[in-house]
Amino acid sequence: MTRTVYVNGEYLPETEAKVSIFDRGFLMADAVYEVTSVLDGKLIDFEGHAVRLKRSLDELDMAEPCTKEELLDIHRKLVELNGIDEGLVYLQVSRGSDGDRDFVFPSADTPPTLVLFTQNKPGLADNPAAKKGAKIISIEDIRWGRRDIKTVQLLYPSIGKMMAKKAGCDDAWLVEDGFVTEGTSNNAYFVKAGKIVTRPLSNNILHGITRKAVMRLAKEAQMEVEERLFTIDEAKAADEAFTTSASAFVMPVVEIDGVALGDGTPGPIARRLREIYIDEARKTAI
Ligand code: PLP
Repeated sequence: MTRTVYVNGEYLPETEAKVSIFDRGFLMADAVYEVTSVLDGKLIDFEGHAVRLKRSLDELDMAEPCTKEELLDIHRKLVELNGIDEGLVYLQVSRGSDGDRDFVFPSADTPPTLVLFTQNKPGLADNPAAKKGAKIISIEDIRWGRRDIKTVQLLYPSIGKMMAKKAGCDDAWLVEDGFVTEGTSNNAYFVKAGKIVTRPLSNNILHGITRKAVMRLAKEAQMEVEERLFTIDEAKAADEAFTTSASAFVMPVVEIDGVALGDGTPGPIARRLREIYIDEARKTAI
């Protein structure tokens, strides 16, 4: 089926959608993005994604392409036009194009490029991968220092996933100065003696929208949560581990660098948090 996508004010078949070859997103990775999940045809935590998008744009001195209300309308229209029950809405804003290539930013009145498209993912909630759990490798974190800004500079995370794949695993956790930062496209946690441990927020990690919701839900469920730096060796010695992201919710981790966690199957806290999160997401979706 040909998708209907959104480009700068127009809804078009994906085969007809066009962006300039001079677009700074294309030439310089001068663009930010958001991914919002859809369950039961409704958007999960749209507000959180809209607020983070605004923050990413502000941090890069990039213009807002439209209002939050307009963004919500575009999301909803794409979900409807493409008949998405479970899936994702990808949004990207770039600094646009002034018709040439230059390191200097184009003039402030250059319109940003706004692109959105849907990805149909039946079975997003009832994901078999979550029942199996993910196998992780650890690799060095060599990304730039502003990982709190959700830019499209995804080459290294992409290389990390390929390294994991080559090693027969599912994903990689990134390690900097001896401490785990996050996963290639998710936030990272381990559980020891009932306590959930994750790295505190800083410029070194993305401030996950799912992280925020899961931390709140864990506390509401009387689970103990500690935000502190942790090493890959601590995670390997954990009872269980998991990751969070908008596209995979809570994903149990069953192996790190070849070491099985607990009995090598998804742990009870990760399973419970996944259940609670999806339940709450369905209830609060718009
Ligand atoms: N960390 C990184 C590097 C990511 O790319 C992502 C999601 O893409 C996350 C964390 C999780 O963020 P969220 O829960 O907002 O999807």
